Amino acid sequence: MKRTLIYSILIFISLTCSCSNSRGKNGDFFGNIGTGGLSGVYYPAGEAISKIVNEKTDELRIRLTAESTGGSVANVSGMVNGQLSFGLVQSDRLSQAYNGEGYWYNAGPQSKLRVICALHPESVTFVAAYDSNIQSVVDLKDKVVSIGSQGSGQWQNSVDTLRAFGIDWKKDINSAVLASSELAIALQSGKIDAYFYTVGHPSGSFEEAISGMRKVHFVPIVLKDSFYTSHKYYSPSLIQIKNYPGVKNEKDVKTFGVRASFCTTTDVSEETVYLITKQLFENLDELKKLHPALAVLTKKNMLQGLAAPIHDGAMKYYKEIGLKS
Ligand code: GLU
Repeated sequence: MKRTLIYSILIFISLTCSCSNSRGKNGDFFGNIGTGGLSGVYYPAGEAISKIVNEKTDELRIRLTAESTGGSVANVSGMVNGQLSFGLVQSDRLSQAYNGEGYWYNAGPQSKLRVICALHPESVTFVAAYDSNIQSVVDLKDKVVSIGSQGSGQWQNSVDTLRAFGIDWKKDINSAVLASSELAIALQSGKIDAYFYTVGHPSGSFEEAISGMRKVHFVPIVLKDSFYTSHKYYSPSLIQIKNYPGVKNEKDVKTFGVRASFCTTTDVSEETVYLITKQLFENLDELKKLHPALAVLTKKNMLQGLAAPIHDGAMKYYKEIGLKS
């Protein structure tokens, strides 16, 4: 009993102190990257970043690990309260957190957040069981739908989508709160009719949902220009169905999206962030091969759509190679 208690305390200490954001006595830096659920793209992207950096651990004295989390909002909280050194965050959520809007309206601006670079595009993806007769967002009334948990990035995207179609998520649908790793199984077992997931493609969640007995399809989300005018961080995007053999759709699916960003805070030193940025950019070809969603990255587009100030360490590298003046 005593031993179990000691182990529990040790595990608790190692979890709560898993990052210190500064180099230890011997000069080593151990950092963790907050990602998302195992069936998304954040987790493999976080693992890919860690792999590239850890290939040079002996020289850089930096070791990174990817941690599965609830997603963007959980990652912002983790970075701000010092439990995460780095985090992947949707550009829309990053903008809101940095400026103290939306979810952060009461907490105020999370001003120590910094961005290192942009990563893959993410689409607000709405998938439904074919037998649920959902051809459009408006057909969601009275259906059981997962709109994402509060720690996830997609919750706000789902609510914005529903609102644009005149649907009140509190009154008009039966919203289910599920972790992203539970979504595909819940759709297949009939627990839910549809789910929203803001994620890069291809994503394990849809591969899993499509491989089951219950036929599924992506439902288009086509929005008016006024939606994009009032939601500056959203832009139209397309889900390519070639990524998902077996899906019921015959054409690529229109929706909208955001950008994933690799973030940190001012608590992490300029030197550490500089070394990590340099290692990632110098090994971009390898990074791109580690997940198909990362294949579209270029040095140029990794500096586009940044929704918070660039960390000083990353900026130092960008100036050094002429990407910023
Ligand atoms: N965009 C999702 C979120 O912020 C995570 C997607 C993923 O895990 O790839 O919650």
